Amino acid sequence: RATKGGEEVRGYAPSMGQIFMRRFQMVTQFRQSLEDGQVSVHYQPKISLPNRQVAGVEALVRWVHPEFGRLGPDEFVPAIEAAGLIGVLTEFVLEESLKRVRKWLDEGLRISAAVNISVRNLADEEFPAKVAAALERFDVPPSLVTFELTESGVMSDPQKALPILRELSALGVELAVDDFGTGYSSLAYLRQLPVDQVKIDKSFVLGMGTDLGDLAVVRSIVELGHSLGLTVVAEGVEEDVARDQLEAMGCDVAQGYLISRPLPEDRLEAWLQARTA
Ligand code: C2E
Ligand code: CA
Ligand code: CA
Ligand code: CA
Repeated sequence: RATKGGEEVRGYAPSMGQIFMRRFQMVTQFRQSLEDGQVSVHYQPKISLPNRQVAGVEALVRWVHPEFGRLGPDEFVPAIEAAGLIGVLTEFVLEESLKRVRKWLDEGLRISAAVNISVRNLADEEFPAKVAAALERFDVPPSLVTFELTESGVMSDPQKALPILRELSALGVELAVDDFGTGYSSLAYLRQLPVDQVKIDKSFVLGMGTDLGDLAVVRSIVELGHSLGLTVVAEGVEEDVARDQLEAMGCDVAQGYLISRPLPEDRLEAWLQARTA
């Protein structure tokens, strides 16, 4: 068992130098790793409440690195962002997602895909035009694409983000504020953003069964969201009880391990087939 500051811990914890080298390698190898097929997109289904139909999927990036093994986005997205490569990542995830949505449309299914974007994508003035071009290329209606942007991301530089968000919104894509409740946005501010959805941060949803404070936060976000005409999505739905409580509150969409973990393409197809059979 590891002890604080003990030998065992020191044996496993990477040094600053190792962390730096690892980040350096990730950043320099990223483009090649896309070409080599090490980076892929997993999809996590979301269901509508109360009818429990599939409402869409969220695209979540994964990297199986030859040396470092499976990397979660929390381990490499910040490095990719800092290195100015987020545009490359977002383009990849968007194209993969559009391919999926197109395939579903060809099969007669209307399933939307949500792509996470970073505030750094909004610093690219060309971003809305790139999105429009990709929608056209894959012949996907904009309403079947959602961009999720964290609350802290929107708030970090609202003056810069706002015009780009307006352009995206004008294209007809949906915009969602992710991790809502963890930042400092006021109700007044949310009203000024052209957003369509709020996603309640999973920490509140995970805690709502045992913590009355979390339950109150979830309830008030559902009410606030609806009073602003927004679709309210809850992430981190792991238990039946949570789903039932959310349904009773009028929350519109649920996402979480109870419904499904994020799945690679083939397993998602199997999940969808079992579900719609
Ligand atoms: P997020 O956008 O808040 O995504 C939800 C995270 O919660 C995902 O972690 C998902 O696997 C996890 N999750 C889903 N359901 C449950 C549940 O029931 N319980 C618990 N405990 N967790 C659940 P993941 O895939 O590790 O992604 C972490 C974060 O990395 C994402 O948080 C998002 O901010 C970022 N990210 C992922 N893919 C991308 C991407 O393509 N681009 C960018 N810019 N960021 C990404
Ligand atoms: Ca998200
Ligand atoms: Ca809109
Ligand atoms: Ca989130």
